[in-house]
Amino acid sequence: MKVLVAVKRVIDYNVKIRVKADNTGVETANVKMSMNPFDEIAVEEGVRLREAGTAEELVAVSMGPAASQETIRTALAMGADRGILVQTDDDLQPLAVAKLLKALVEKEAPQMVIMGKQAIDDDSNQTGQMLAALLGWPQGTFASKLALGDGAAEVTREIDGGLETVSLTLPAVVTTDLRLNTPRYASLPNIMKAKKKPIDTMSPADLGVDVAPRLTTLKVEEPAQRQAGVRVADVAELVDKLKNEAKVI
Ligand code: AMP
Repeated sequence: MKVLVAVKRVIDYNVKIRVKADNTGVETANVKMSMNPFDEIAVEEGVRLREAGTAEELVAVSMGPAASQETIRTALAMGADRGILVQTDDDLQPLAVAKLLKALVEKEAPQMVIMGKQAIDDDSNQTGQMLAALLGWPQGTFASKLALGDGAAEVTREIDGGLETVSLTLPAVVTTDLRLNTPRYASLPNIMKAKKKPIDTMSPADLGVDVAPRLTTLKVEEPAQRQAGVRVADVAELVDKLKNEAKVI
């Protein structure tokens, strides 16, 4: 079976995010970028299926600027076989990404798409669900365990208050949660080998997808600064402050 894995280039999770002075977005110039952490988990899961012989081919796909090639190279160094970059400098919203992925699924005919449950830059948590809906495929989101059987996948999902196990008929979309696995580091020999693996580049127009934004961001602001705490002398003072200052009792 063929597996497609979606990898997004995002601001590295260690970087302290700064809002642009004109409040139009966050600063990305001269900022370290990396693969979205949930997508590293998706790649790891795909590589494990590949190593187990369950998957014959693992294709890493990314949508975004030319530099997203680096993110695909990381996936190739982890063990993916080849990459596809849908190159655009346009701002891509989840619906546009889902439409591009749908077009790639129609072209590549994978049995499974594995992606992150959310991208840590927009925190949308929408693309996997939208892709499954557009394709009419079953979805197993927030997977903490994935087991493949004959033409079906069993996905254990992390939900409020516990775990839920669902059985999906393939082809299906699976989105990863943190506890699914621990992604490997790419070894130096594998990084060198990845340089020779092929990456196809195409544009949204080549796939016949209109990626024009459907949402407008009005303003991006820093969260309000937290006020310093105060130490109270006794319970009476605490109750007084709760009643008269915070007005919560
Ligand atoms: P989101 O719905 O934006 O939180 O993203 C959920 C998942 O969709 C991510 O973890 C990725 O696997 C995938 N995804 C979103 N945007 C892109 C992109 N531009 N390129 C590749 N994959 C993406």
